[in-house]
Amino acid sequence: MLKNILNNSIKSYQGCYNFCFFRGRVALYAILRALAIGKGDEIALQAFTCLAVPEAIMASGAKPLYIDLQKNNVNMDPNNLSKKITRNTRAIIVQHTYGIPAEMDRIIHVANKANISLIEDCCHTIYSTFHKQSIGTFGCASFYSYEWGKPIVVGIGGSAKINSSNLAAKISEDYKNFIFPKTSRILRLKLQYIAYSILFRPRFYWQMRSFYNWLGKHGIAESNYNPIKQEGLLSKDFSLRMSAYHKKLLKKKLLRLSNITEKSKNIAFQYRNKIFSLPVSHIPASNDIDIIYARYPLLAINKHAILNAAHKANVELADWYATPIHPLKRDDWNKVGYQEGECPNAEKLSKQIVTLPTHEKVSQRDVDRTIDFLNNLSL
Ligand SMILES: *Cc1c(COP(=O)(O)O)cnc(C)c1O
Repeated sequence: MLKNILNNSIKSYQGCYNFCFFRGRVALYAILRALAIGKGDEIALQAFTCLAVPEAIMASGAKPLYIDLQKNNVNMDPNNLSKKITRNTRAIIVQHTYGIPAEMDRIIHVANKANISLIEDCCHTIYSTFHKQSIGTFGCASFYSYEWGKPIVVGIGGSAKINSSNLAAKISEDYKNFIFPKTSRILRLKLQYIAYSILFRPRFYWQMRSFYNWLGKHGIAESNYNPIKQEGLLSKDFSLRMSAYHKKLLKKKLLRLSNITEKSKNIAFQYRNKIFSLPVSHIPASNDIDIIYARYPLLAINKHAILNAAHKANVELADWYATPIHPLKRDDWNKVGYQEGECPNAEKLSKQIVTLPTHEKVSQRDVDRTIDFLNNLSL
């Protein structure tokens, strides 16, 4: 049995079972299936997330249950979680937003008391720790993504890391049902990745962003979000595993993980210690966590003005998450079961947050330019 699992998985950098899927959301979907979650079940997740997460929950047949954030923080509020869970809540998805670990001790307490499974959304970080324990090791499973904007980029891809051999056996069994993407699609993704590798620089962020959105709109590039389908109509993506090409690329990139991590640490350290601009403020971090950021968040007094100024100055500054279920606009929130006003802290934060890059392509010159830009802002 063990051999079978390892055949389907790539050996972990943390000694657990790993299964590679087409995307992070597909990995989450596979975890939910292995937990026998479906119709009538509820899955708790934080608002201030991306559409991919509720999409996977809905694909399993379950309903998303939105939990608010802690005040002035980017992660789930354990008190709000404790208040909102019901008898139908079968799992809690804990997101470590931007790489900042959630309050695991209090969340685990709630989960254990109510006997609910814990799944960690590690799409933003691989190596952060909470009380010296690596994130991704607290729950029964965690999932990762390798698309643009994540710590390791291969263009598209996801994986599930399973911490229990029982659950791993179930996924291993189910893995047979996941097929490879079409060759033409892999080729397109390959070209996209190559173009990104050659062309992308933080200075070109805004141009690349418009260009990519244009390509996505015209069906030339793979876009990040699937249209929300009617209930019961599953996107085909949820039947896909990772292509051999992407798996190979991922393996290669994982070898560089410690470089990527060191770089992110160094850049975030500079941002934290050198940005003293008045229109933005830092998010406090406690001493008992070690954060490896996917992006470095700042709270902006006037988000729109700062984004516009960054655009003009060609400084990479991202707006996500711009809504509680990014990128859904208010009118579409009900399609994923979110009611306006349900999570006020998440709604407020999405109007304030901007994020700076800490990825591989950021040069020291980019860091200096970004810091200068922010410190000289006059809005
Ligand atoms: C990117 C991301 C996902 C989903 O990843 P895909 O590979 O796009 O499916 C899930 N959760 C978070 C927090 C993410 O940032």
